[in-house]
Amino acid sequence: MKNIYLDNNATTRISENVLDAMLPYFKNKWGNPSSMHSFGGDVAKDVEHARGQVADLLNAEVSEIVFTSCGTESDNTAIFGALEAIQMPNKRQFITTKVEHPAVIASARELQRRGYPVTYLSVDRYGNIDLDELRGAIGAETAVVSVMWANNETGVIFPIEKIGQIVKSAGAVFHVDAVQAVGKIPINLKDSTVDLLSMSGHKIHAPKGVGVLYIRRGTRVRPLLHGGHQERGRRGGTENVPYIVGLGVAAEQAKKALVEETPRIKTLRDKLENGLIERIPNTLLNGAKEERLPNTSSLSFEYVEGEAILLKLDNAGIAASSGSACSSGSLEPSHVLRAMGVPYTAAHGSIRFSLSGDSTEDEIEYVLEKMPPIIENLRSISPFWLDFIKGRKIDADKHSGPYAPYN
Ligand code: PLP
Repeated sequence: MKNIYLDNNATTRISENVLDAMLPYFKNKWGNPSSMHSFGGDVAKDVEHARGQVADLLNAEVSEIVFTSCGTESDNTAIFGALEAIQMPNKRQFITTKVEHPAVIASARELQRRGYPVTYLSVDRYGNIDLDELRGAIGAETAVVSVMWANNETGVIFPIEKIGQIVKSAGAVFHVDAVQAVGKIPINLKDSTVDLLSMSGHKIHAPKGVGVLYIRRGTRVRPLLHGGHQERGRRGGTENVPYIVGLGVAAEQAKKALVEETPRIKTLRDKLENGLIERIPNTLLNGAKEERLPNTSSLSFEYVEGEAILLKLDNAGIAASSGSACSSGSLEPSHVLRAMGVPYTAAHGSIRFSLSGDSTEDEIEYVLEKMPPIIENLRSISPFWLDFIKGRKIDADKHSGPYAPYN
């Protein structure tokens, strides 16, 4: 039985080097970094070394790196912490986009519940935002703008520096959720407009449960976790030393992989994507072709259900995802594809393949061989497909479940 993992945007395998670096901190290097004795002092040095490794990946100052428990915590701290720090009655607006990860979208909803004005920017058919829409929405009343660097479902990359210039000219704080971008495209925060940036360990071959919030020097953020003086008072709680050390190693490896692995990953991704589009009729790419993460391909196989495809792929030993991992399990098409206006007959048949440095040519060949009969088989029993090939109008009401069709 094959075991092909093409769901690396959901999470990645912990690399051997990362695990090896972590293990001593579970065995004999178990001190608390805040302790005055050498048990603590030694591990405190190792935490600082890891901070340097992360700073190097992002081209940031070491003091600008705050360790957190995950990307979600980093997003929440950035959004709530920056808004709370502003404390100006006429500067409360929060701007984000309709395609953010739930870590940001749910935070935005919570802000609305607390009475903050929130604006959700739309995207076009290719997942791009309209900078003029941002220019129209932003003003002196805008406190924080939060956009993702790259979309977890489609891989579409937003023009961060262009957005940042607009944000900075309005005097707002600029937060970027870079959880999917870090390690896949170069990030250079040195001369950037980004004030706050979130990343997560488990997307770059470190374990789940460790993340980073980059806080540009001078940016004010109220902590989410009040406690000890850890992380210079920016995040209370005894540091998760083994995970932080692992993240440091993963960051160092990610920096090398950007040069050594990314071109190969992109070639494999393109082979998979072009091969599936060639072999399977009515297969559509979701998202911009060029401005996209090199490892991600979101494809819609029209007139079939993504969940059914996933099950068949799983039976063939191939792991992929339909929509984002967080929303799978629900039959609603993803909010990202809905925001892009992907027709419902396509949105439902969307599958995300996401590769990593572990992916091989043989694996891609295998998927290219297995996928066409899977889709053919599912279409043979799909009422949508039968309507389509017979040239009948697709009756959305007849076929749709709880979801509304798109225009
Ligand atoms: N932001 C984006 C774009 C993501 O893809 C994810 C995870 O999938 C997160 C935030 C949340 O990160 P974590 O799983 O570390 O909480």
